[in-house]
Amino acid sequence: MENIKTQNHFVKTQKKDVTNIAVAYGDGIGPEIMDATLRILHAAGANIKPEKIDLGEKVYLSGNSSGIEKSAWEIINKNKIILKAPITTPQGKGYKSLNVTLRKSLGLFANVRPVSAFAPYVETNFAGMDVVIVRENEEDLYAGIEHQQTQDVVQCLKLITRPGCEKIVRYAFEYAKAYGRKKVTCMVKDNIMKLTDGLFHKVFKEIALEYPEIENNSQIIDIGSARLAANPENYDVIVTSNLYGDIISDIAAEIAGSVGMAGSANIGSNVAMFEAIHGSAPDIAGQKIANPSGLINASILMLSHVGKTKIADIVKNAWLKTLEDGYHTADIYQEEITKEIVSTSEFATRIIENL
Ligand code: NAD
Repeated sequence: MENIKTQNHFVKTQKKDVTNIAVAYGDGIGPEIMDATLRILHAAGANIKPEKIDLGEKVYLSGNSSGIEKSAWEIINKNKIILKAPITTPQGKGYKSLNVTLRKSLGLFANVRPVSAFAPYVETNFAGMDVVIVRENEEDLYAGIEHQQTQDVVQCLKLITRPGCEKIVRYAFEYAKAYGRKKVTCMVKDNIMKLTDGLFHKVFKEIALEYPEIENNSQIIDIGSARLAANPENYDVIVTSNLYGDIISDIAAEIAGSVGMAGSANIGSNVAMFEAIHGSAPDIAGQKIANPSGLINASILMLSHVGKTKIADIVKNAWLKTLEDGYHTADIYQEEITKEIVSTSEFATRIIENL
């Protein structure tokens, strides 16, 4: 496979100095994939200084209902960069999602999720797939406005604002411009939600006029996701609201090969947070079989974001070489292609050998 250049976040300078980062080891498979990722970053000479922060299940269980220690906020505000492993959030009950709290409290308005195929080394029907999903990250049904009206009636309000739409749509076009991408597709459901999704689409059409060199189109989210699943090669950059973006990025990652592969960046004006798109995978936690690639790819986005694009390329190419050599974690095993099924930490060791 040809070596590829890492997509960075509009940073063109090279930095070599120490980068202080807040590191959350997360829950479930989190500590296993974080150990693997940090070993690779250190071996690659990324010159990062990780400072551990406590958040997630253990903090909740210790009686802190916010799920995050006060000291963690201090470290985040000091370091401004977070590398975070997935955390467990109970379904349909219990505490509020800490992921949502972090994104909203830190103003992380853009969730950027690049998803590419790595065929034939990772099995997919879509070898040419290379799509970036730019998801609004603070508003919509994830704004946290949810009420119990009566015992049998509950309500969740969808919040969409013009400034929120402008920020995310402009970010998507600027991203396309910075990385030579050709087209931005808007996906919402404004045939039904005429005011909320209607505003998102209206702002998209206005801002698209400022970027005549970039093609634009719009699709209603239901048929849009069906077409994305059927022909992902036809998409370049997709901009959408919070809930739709969450769903279509998991679909995209799965059809590219595995949800365990994709990393993401949560970008704000002051702070940026980098994480895998998958969750804490409690079903395989502690078995040493988790694929650390999602967090490794998130750390590559982080290196680019802080101006260490050369190191980012080195790590990406060593990761690609490891896939090519056939050292695969169990989730991406293929009879003809896999030379050896390796554990999480052996996969990291192979990458380090390829640096
Ligand atoms: P999940 O992504 O954790 O797991 C879905 C399936 O994919 C599981 O079968 C799992 O084993 C597999 N998988 C996921 N990551 C993998 C990897 N790196 N290597 C190999 N296989 C992998 O989704 P879920 O089970 O719906 O959620 C589990 C928990 O994670 C929930 O509490 C959820 O709230 C949380 N979650 C957290 C985040 C986050 O912290 N950003 C994101 C999504 C879900």
